[in-house]
Amino acid sequence: MNNLAMHRRMLGDSLVTSCLQTRRHLQRYLDGEADPALAERITRHLDACRACGLQAHIYQQIKTAVCRHATEPPAEALERLTAFAEALPRQRT
Ligand SMILES: [Zn+2]
Repeated sequence: MNNLAMHRRMLGDSLVTSCLQTRRHLQRYLDGEADPALAERITRHLDACRACGLQAHIYQQIKTAVCRHATEPPAEALERLTAFAEALPRQRT
C-alpha cells in the first residue's frame, strides 16, 4: 500500500467535498465534463449544501438562458444582468 497515494486521495476527497472545490469544479460538472468520481462527490455535496445547491441552480439558469439566446444577441439578458449588478451595492448598505 502506497501511503503517499492514500494520503493524497484522502486530501483530494476532503478538498472536493468542500464548498471551495465544489464551486471551482461546478461549471465543469454542469457541462458534464467532470470525471464520474468527482461528479458523484459534487452531486452529494450539492444535495447536502444549500448554498452550493443554489449556486448550481443559478449557473444552470444562466447556461439555459445563454443557450436559448445563442442565435440572437442577448441584449435583454445583459441589460438585466447589468441592472442586477448595479443594484447589488445599494442593497447591501
Ligand atoms: Zn457547499
